[in-house]
Amino acid sequence: MHSDKHNLDQLAGNVEERRLDGNAIGGLLREIFTMEMTAAESTCAGCGAINAVGRVMVYRDAPGTVVRCPECGQVLMRIVHGRGRYWVDMTGMRCLEFAEG
Ligand SMILES: [Zn+2]
Repeated sequence: MHSDKHNLDQLAGNVEERRLDGNAIGGLLREIFTMEMTAAESTCAGCGAINAVGRVMVYRDAPGTVVRCPECGQVLMRIVHGRGRYWVDMTGMRCLEFAEG
């Protein structure tokens, strides 16, 4: 059973469906990082652009969320939440910087 990997692959295929801004995942990220993350700054591993999480492009696609770089469109982060667990893929984000809470 490779359902974890499968969830992430499925997510990558449907990212154009619905686009939101980074504030849409403020609540979700708070559940994971336990602090306000919309002011956190992400560095794109693809183009090096630094963007506040509140300004990145977000695509909600149940059961997951895809976050993309507004400069080059690369996937920065993929988050799947289900069955009592979170899966966070941050392959496309070189760095995430935020103030201590
Ligand atoms: Zn980029």
